[in-house]
Amino acid sequence: MSTTKSAPKSPKKVSSSQEKMAALGLVSDFDFALHLPLRYEDETQIHTVDSLYPGQSAQLEGVVENVAVNFAHRKQLTATFRDATGKLSLRWIHYYPSQKAQLEKAGLIRIRGEVRGSSMWGFEIIHPKVSKAGETLPDTLTPIYPSTEGLTQPVLRKSILAALSRVQLHDSVPVAIQQKYALPSFSQSIHTLHNPNLGEDTHSLMDKTHPAWERVKFDELLAQQIALHLAREARAKLHAPKLSVENSTLYQRVLNTFGLPLTKAQECVLAEIKQDLQRSFPMHRLLQGDVGSGKTIVAALTAAMVLQNGLQVAIMAPTEILAEQHYLKMQKWFADKEINVVWLSGSLKAKEKREVQAKIQSGEAHLVIGTQALIQKGVEFAHLGLMIVDEQHRFGVGQRLSLSKKGEDTQHDIIPHQLSMSATPIPRTLAMSYLADLDVSVIDELPPGRTPISTRLMVNDRRDELLARLGIDCASGKQAYWVCPLVEESEALQLQTAVDTHHYIQEKLPHLRVGLLHGRMHADEKAAVMQAFATHQIDILVATTVIEVGVDVPNASIMVIEHAERFGLAQLHQLRGRVGRGEAASVCVLLYQNPLSETAKFRLKALYETNDGFEIARRDLEQRGPGEFLGLRQSGEQMLRFADIELDSETLDNAREAAVVMLNDYPQASLEHMQRWIKGREDYLRS
Ligand code: ADP
Ligand code: MG
Repeated sequence: MSTTKSAPKSPKKVSSSQEKMAALGLVSDFDFALHLPLRYEDETQIHTVDSLYPGQSAQLEGVVENVAVNFAHRKQLTATFRDATGKLSLRWIHYYPSQKAQLEKAGLIRIRGEVRGSSMWGFEIIHPKVSKAGETLPDTLTPIYPSTEGLTQPVLRKSILAALSRVQLHDSVPVAIQQKYALPSFSQSIHTLHNPNLGEDTHSLMDKTHPAWERVKFDELLAQQIALHLAREARAKLHAPKLSVENSTLYQRVLNTFGLPLTKAQECVLAEIKQDLQRSFPMHRLLQGDVGSGKTIVAALTAAMVLQNGLQVAIMAPTEILAEQHYLKMQKWFADKEINVVWLSGSLKAKEKREVQAKIQSGEAHLVIGTQALIQKGVEFAHLGLMIVDEQHRFGVGQRLSLSKKGEDTQHDIIPHQLSMSATPIPRTLAMSYLADLDVSVIDELPPGRTPISTRLMVNDRRDELLARLGIDCASGKQAYWVCPLVEESEALQLQTAVDTHHYIQEKLPHLRVGLLHGRMHADEKAAVMQAFATHQIDILVATTVIEVGVDVPNASIMVIEHAERFGLAQLHQLRGRVGRGEAASVCVLLYQNPLSETAKFRLKALYETNDGFEIARRDLEQRGPGEFLGLRQSGEQMLRFADIELDSETLDNAREAAVVMLNDYPQASLEHMQRWIKGREDYLRS
């Protein structure tokens, strides 16, 4: 932003709206042009009270009566509004003291707002906008823009209109492609969205199916597809470590130690991975499989193929407990095979950490297992051939980026292979648009002999009844998890809840061995408790969500989740996946507290209705939207502003097809188009 101009009359005010706009990403004229309305309001007509319906965004003219400050539940300002056809109530929960007097002497006014209530009991508008009656009505829809506190619609709109009058909106999509998909021109579309013409189809503008919206969404998706193609091409130019993976004896020996036949799905996935490893460029594969589908042994066998070539392999997991568990399994599977398996986590003492780091650097450590500590500074691999990331969706975008840089041999352009694993299935469209740079394999069957988990919903009042039942089941040899509620406001409170619950259950069931596991325990303690549970020294394990991912104790067949309504859908599915891993029929009890919100009902119902991780992911996506689903929202970066990859899957298909044509026939325009839409976001596409 230029600050060299002479000082304006009220410098503070001017710079503050400019700053606010800049914070919204609005700097250049083009930014303003692309700042499209969130929705539209129809202020073109005056409605009458007798024609209203609930939910309507209405504009009325009339008089106010009975203005009063009311103390019903909380202090509020109320009034009656009347026009020639009837009356309705007005209410302000926040108001200025002077507002009452103003309303009393207002006379004829115009009000605008959302109609609530019913024609039977009377309508109401909360916080109506009030203006003078009789002012000229606009003749087109009024756009409402995404804004921020202190930046009013009129100010924003004025800047947008000014920018629009200056900016050249040349078309970055060749006419041939516009015609093929029957798209209106870019310039026309942008102008229409900011200033809908008289008689434009209101409904399609509102719900974003108007051709002008279609054009914008197409452009956005096209840019993304071009970027993904380029990322993939760039990867194909990189070199991977040279591997020979046919007839790996190490593979065979690990498989023998595992001792069970692989499922068909596991075999297929391994065949795909084997092909990847033989190519000259790095593998970048996402292995999806529902909880319990057996991804860990696939990871071990993949590691074996790479280790056989004398290269190092790293396995990274998002929690210490899970990493530790992998460490124990790998130690077992790679025992007596001349493979040096080491453990690296943040909780190691400084001296131990340095020792492990030295072994990693010298190449003495072959298979390294750990947490995020693996990708931190100070960890230098001698010759990393493969990086495996378990539960990859749990890592932030930033972590995923630094991961892809680990082990790079920039001198020779050699990049290690990468295998990501996730139990949170990513729906096809999402994979195609965000992760098109990844190859995806799916394990679509569970190992044999599993009985489906039965899920029960139980209101919290029946907690003691449930405990009594649990007492009987566990006395007869079953094992149970008891997951304590999330307390989002405070970690300390969550910890306290776990401690209290542990105490309570032990008191109620004195004949059983009740253990406790939470995030604040020292790594050694955690490991000891997990070990005790795994070897059945503990009957009931009271835990916080530290057990959420990956934990594998096949004998545990009962899962109780307290205050299930506080958890997210994917999280509940993960927790439930801790049981149903052995021969015994498993049960998951979701304890909930009334009253339930609509979203909580939706989640619990979904969980009750299906065990299928893909279906759960679909519903989760439906409820949360793709950005949040991938953890992008946390990073404050939204990948798509206009298109919705689930709703606009047809446009996505078109954009995919068009991206190929653009890159082949119009390479210059492709780059221009991508830069126009994706400035500064290319990095995310690489993760
Ligand atoms: P996830 O895919 O959730 O990571 P795990 O790898 O932890 O699942 O496997 C779940 C359980 O299934 C483990 O106890 C594992 O030993 C077992 N398992 C994996 N593959 C097979 C198989 N082919 N046959 C029988 N059991 C298997
Ligand atoms: Mg796992």
